[in-house]
Amino acid sequence: MNVFVGGMDAECNEHVSEIIGLDGLHLLRGEECAEALNVRETFEAAGIRVIGGLYAHAGPTGMLSREAFEAVSSELLRRVKEHLHEIDAVYLKLHGASGVDGLDEVSGEHVLIDRLRSLVGRHMPIAVVQDPHGNITRAFAESVNIVRCYRESPHTDTVATGQIVARKLSDLMLHRRPMRPIVFKLPMLLGGEQSLSAEEPMRTVNRMLDEAEKDPRMFSCCFYVGYLSHDDDKLGAAVVVVPDRPEDEAFCRARGERIARAVWDLRGEFGFKGNFAPPEEAVVRTLAEGKRSAVITDLGDNCGAGAMGQQTELLRCMLKHWQGEKKVLFAGIRDVRAHAQLLGLPVGAEVSFDLGAGEDERSAPVHIEGTVVASGDEYKGYGNAVFMGRKVGEAVTVRVKGTLIDVLVLDTNLQYGHPYEFQRAGLDFHAYDVVVVKMGYLDTYLIPETRYHCMAVTDGPTAQEPQKFDFKRVYRPIWPLDEVKELRFIE
Ligand SMILES: [Zn+2]
Repeated sequence: MNVFVGGMDAECNEHVSEIIGLDGLHLLRGEECAEALNVRETFEAAGIRVIGGLYAHAGPTGMLSREAFEAVSSELLRRVKEHLHEIDAVYLKLHGASGVDGLDEVSGEHVLIDRLRSLVGRHMPIAVVQDPHGNITRAFAESVNIVRCYRESPHTDTVATGQIVARKLSDLMLHRRPMRPIVFKLPMLLGGEQSLSAEEPMRTVNRMLDEAEKDPRMFSCCFYVGYLSHDDDKLGAAVVVVPDRPEDEAFCRARGERIARAVWDLRGEFGFKGNFAPPEEAVVRTLAEGKRSAVITDLGDNCGAGAMGQQTELLRCMLKHWQGEKKVLFAGIRDVRAHAQLLGLPVGAEVSFDLGAGEDERSAPVHIEGTVVASGDEYKGYGNAVFMGRKVGEAVTVRVKGTLIDVLVLDTNLQYGHPYEFQRAGLDFHAYDVVVVKMGYLDTYLIPETRYHCMAVTDGPTAQEPQKFDFKRVYRPIWPLDEVKELRFIE
């Protein structure tokens, strides 16, 4: 037996100015695609041969261009078609929030899955692994046979979840039976930074999911936080269950609904946890911590959720409050023009430039006089598989004159979430007392490296309060935008 594997992985934020073309996608084909998805061994252990198709990866970013999406969709489907005579199932990794500029349906994967189902016919098994920060609908679930998202945020279980789905698909391929996911879509808009799995109420939610899966009738059970950085009729949190056999449907439906109602009852508990503060207070508080490797995250300009990393608000706060001997690093700030000015200058060169894209007040330019202190690579990790990343450009770091504040200047939006990425830029994460990063919550690899962490609740494209965005297409009434007196599932 053979399984076709592929995917499209882009988390698309419409509140940033950049539209991502085909050149903004990393395209892996054939064997490279099969390797990147990490499921070969799982399928082979079940005696199933893997045929690599196309994996298009952009990570968190702006909206995809229509052309880029259509190119990915048509190549992926063409590759499926080429192998249609020999494949027994399809396995896809689809983010769930791949918004496409100019597409009526907004989320590209919903269109892609419809096209795939039409191509392979009604009965070939299709399994999909997703990010919990994606949006799922009943229509999507009806086009597939197995769908499951990661449990953990930060996503420590991307590879493991892919392998779970691969194991489940292998089981379905070897023991064919009718299988269809059931969606309980909640009228709830949740921010990703307000639903970390190490905190409540997500711990309770994940415990309920694990508990439910102990029953063999429950083939799979998961919870989608949803995505709220583009306007779409598919937005909202959801519980998704997959019954093992058709006769298990009633049981799974009842259990799924019970979990969904429990999540609804817990809605007031979702929110920021740990240390968080308005921008200025976050800077003052973290400087006062006096511990090496303290980190400030820039919530509203989170490159891990598609922002451009161009906001200078925290830099301005830091310049205002910095004094004494604390070593500070901004990793980094994106400004294409400033970056071009610095490119190629040797370490030690004195520089004078304006930093800040000036798109709005939050990215207002800051004049910097300083010295180049490091140069290296802009390195883009692959989600959690950082060592599968690639160099995407040159990184330049400047020390602001009269201070110990270093600023890594970039021409692309990068989330510095792993010490290795700092190293590639010519920097040592642990050489700094305070590091400011463009992310919402700490990325998986920075957690053990960090002794203190404060989330600066800045405004911007990745702000987490749904009230800040002007939604036109979402289901109403929806919490927390509206008062919802009684729970009614969207679908
Ligand atoms: Zn995510």
